[in-house]
Amino acid sequence: MTDAIVIGGGLVGAAIALGLRDQGLDTVLLDEGDIAFRASRGNFGLVWVQSKGLGAPWYQRWTRGSASEWPALADDLATRTGIDTALQQPGGISLCLSEAEFEDRARRMAQMREEAGNFGFDYRMMRPDELREILPGLGPSVVGGSFTPYDGHAGPLPLLRALHKAFTDAGGRYVPNAKVTGATAAPNDFRVETAAGTFAAPKVVLAAGLGNAELAPQFGLNAPVRPQKGQVLVTERAQTILPMPMTSIRQTAEGSLLLGESNEEVGFDLSQAPPVMAKIAVRAVKAFPWIGELSIVRAWSALRVMAPDGLPIYDQSERFPGAFTANCHSGVTLAGAHARVLAPMIARGALDPVLDPFTAKRFDVQNAA
Ligand SMILES: Cc1cc2nc3c(=O)[nH]c(=O)nc-3n(C[C@H](O)[C@H](O)[C@H](O)COP(=O)(O)OP(=O)(O)OC[C@H]3O[C@@H](n4cnc5c(N)ncnc54)[C@H](O)[C@@H]3O)c2cc1C
Repeated sequence: MTDAIVIGGGLVGAAIALGLRDQGLDTVLLDEGDIAFRASRGNFGLVWVQSKGLGAPWYQRWTRGSASEWPALADDLATRTGIDTALQQPGGISLCLSEAEFEDRARRMAQMREEAGNFGFDYRMMRPDELREILPGLGPSVVGGSFTPYDGHAGPLPLLRALHKAFTDAGGRYVPNAKVTGATAAPNDFRVETAAGTFAAPKVVLAAGLGNAELAPQFGLNAPVRPQKGQVLVTERAQTILPMPMTSIRQTAEGSLLLGESNEEVGFDLSQAPPVMAKIAVRAVKAFPWIGELSIVRAWSALRVMAPDGLPIYDQSERFPGAFTANCHSGVTLAGAHARVLAPMIARGALDPVLDPFTAKRFDVQNAA
């Protein structure tokens, strides 16, 4: 007997599926396959807190909570699978290349602290003298930056692999090439059709990334997510070591630098655009002139899963209890929360009120009015 079906085997679906399995649910994870858009295989790998939740303190808390779940998640995955997710949480910096950027950043950080209230929000605005003590070879174009101790990064591909391995090792069933093409829904009774057969369960979780927009209405849910393209460049391995990640530059455990990233509203277009890539490279070289000596060895683009207001959508179906959806553009950062906090709620059968602000009802015209 299958207790739960999770649709979508990216970072969001895999984290939830593992969490459900760990709650004792017999869980099937259905995944479309290589032709699908897969943000989880093309992202930047930040476990990032400092810019999440401006004007939405509930999102700031959820993100901070997830970052604090991460060490336990990484340890658990390493113990169970032998896969090192390369988590490091030394804090992180957002660099500013003009006074206007610095002022805007300072304003945002102050607002984040104010909105955090008693929860607190630790940050420091730094000028180049202080930054130079931390960051080797900082360029003269940098006018400052913001630091928070909550930020970090991890290897997104090892993470995805580890989530899948832990899930299947624990008895979960992963079914690739199983695009959900049709469904029938009744309260606590779901049946989904795929090329790999029909699956039935009293619980279903829609975690199909951009595929959720089409799937959600069939389950009495709404997931108005759109694609937003991001491009990433990868350099050869550098001898210089960057001690902490930055919003658009991070060094992998192997020594390569990832440079990114763009935010392009171009629909489902995955093509790489040299002008955008050049802009990314120029900004990186302005920040650290020595990066200009490194060769770019790889580059890619991928599509974010973006809600209209940029915040995650977590929902449960009122019409068909037992159906849930999870959508976000920070699936690396939120992996800790998805596996260890959200999945137990879904296993219990209801989302906690703490997730109420994340409902897609916030997009209803009447509610907004
Ligand atoms: C350029 C870029 C940089 C990013 N940087 C970061 C970062 O630094 N930190 C961070 O936290 N996040 C980052 N993200 C976001 C992060 O990658 C996503 O939030 C996350 O990957 C979303 O995971 P997902 O599982 O929802 O979606 P996906 O990875 O897209 O997975 C969805 C899965 O659903 C499957 N699917 C789709 N439709 C169906 C269907 N009908 N039936 C069955 N299966 C289906 C697909 O096969 C796919 O495997 C970045 C994203 C991009 C694009």
